Amino acid sequence: MPDTAPKVDKVLFVTPEVTPLAKTGGLGDVAGGLPPALRALGLDLRLVMPLYGHIDRKAHSLSDTGLEFTVPVAADVKPCRVWQGQVGGCPVYLLGNDQYFSRPGLYGDVYGDFGDNLARFVFLCRGAVELARALEWPAQVVHAHDWQAALLPAYLATRPFDLGPLDQAAGIITIHNLAFQGIYPRHDFHLTGLPHYMDNMEGAEYWGNISLLKAGLMTAGAITTVSPTYAQEIQTPELGMGMEGVLRRRSTDLHGIINGVDYSQWSPEGDALLPATYSAKDLSGKTICRGALLKEFGLHDGLIMGFIGRLTHQKGVNLIAEATEALIEMGASLALLGTGDAYLEAALSRLAARHPGRVGLKLTFSESLAHLLQGGSDLMLMPSSFEPCGLNQMYALRYGTPPLVHATGGLKDTVSSFDRAKGAGTGFVFTKFDGEAFMGQAHEAARVFAQPDAWRRLMLNGMAQDFSWTASARRYLELYQATAQKHHSNL
Ligand code: ADP
Repeated sequence: MPDTAPKVDKVLFVTPEVTPLAKTGGLGDVAGGLPPALRALGLDLRLVMPLYGHIDRKAHSLSDTGLEFTVPVAADVKPCRVWQGQVGGCPVYLLGNDQYFSRPGLYGDVYGDFGDNLARFVFLCRGAVELARALEWPAQVVHAHDWQAALLPAYLATRPFDLGPLDQAAGIITIHNLAFQGIYPRHDFHLTGLPHYMDNMEGAEYWGNISLLKAGLMTAGAITTVSPTYAQEIQTPELGMGMEGVLRRRSTDLHGIINGVDYSQWSPEGDALLPATYSAKDLSGKTICRGALLKEFGLHDGLIMGFIGRLTHQKGVNLIAEATEALIEMGASLALLGTGDAYLEAALSRLAARHPGRVGLKLTFSESLAHLLQGGSDLMLMPSSFEPCGLNQMYALRYGTPPLVHATGGLKDTVSSFDRAKGAGTGFVFTKFDGEAFMGQAHEAARVFAQPDAWRRLMLNGMAQDFSWTASARRYLELYQATAQKHHSNL
């Protein structure tokens, strides 16, 4: 064993989503935004993800590498054909297998999650190892994202098969949202490719089932999550989602690193998806965006409150639905964009039908509408019950659209309450998760909105915030080096 670990210069990201190729939420944006920032620090960073059927290969300039190999999934071997693209100068390898990925949707369809998701993501994880073998590429660190990639660190730590060029690699896992844990019946353990001794409480076993995320958390050299506050919260029974014991045990290896913003995609100065661009120096374009948003959502003028996101309890959609009438009375117009739980879609649809001109709703996933909402809204609602990091509030700050947030996770770490006397702060923050506290801050927002000078100060405070990836990328790089060092001394 050499005395010193080699300097980390090769890192493999394994992720189920990469913006702009495939995205359901913040994970995609992180996997698209962090790699270029790490590359700028000198890393040879490469990504691997599934070749989903819906990805437009031509539009994203993907090319067929001609590389083919087989991937063991339990007793079967599955063919894999590798395609290649790039994000911000980093190669992205897309693992193709028609049986697993040639269908619309990343994880499921209208009937729910796909029944073979376990096998699909075993294929991704084992396929990543086979890819490194085919490329003869000895990454020193494999960085796995969420439960879909969580078997990777477990393979690296338990070595159930020949790891080829990844033999010396350290594994790191990032939790983007602890609500998603990759839970499957225990009798499917054999599909994972993990050694038998992992089929117990010290391994993948989780309250009578197995959890892929847990397998990763138990074995990774380091664990990260996407904000300092969320790193603390997930060690408590309130937000640990049953995983708090595991996370407390690993607390010295658990790090909260705030997500960054890819300002090349999210800045009002150069946003091609907006009807007009604007900047802190000249806000006139925002008025044009406002007008376009009112028209697009069929709204009367008022204090325009935007919402973008998955329609789930997590995102506080029920608080918004319950408060809608009171918000309208206050003079608000609501522009809501999202898809999600059927009962919330139905509740919002009823509100939109009952309040034409006051509630505008688009039940769809649309990048361009998301940008229009950021540019055209006055206030961005993000009353999440919990929020690992949240990106929309950071985008909103840059677009001069102050966010109204619940003090949780990354929302707490990135938004501060506006103080009218001092002219300091960037948004509106409520602490107790209930309708009264939410409405209290909505009223405060309306009061500040009625004072144009104060509102302008608030907008400019937010626009001056800098959440670019550079600082967080440096922290990841330090962590890669420290984790590789520790891993090496244990080899
Ligand atoms: P999460 O990852 O929990 O869904 P984040 O705030 O971290 O939430 O990231 C959400 C990302 O997904 C943002 O880029 C947001 O604009 C985008 N998004 C969510 N829902 C939609 C939608 N219906 N249309 C367009 N973009 C959406």
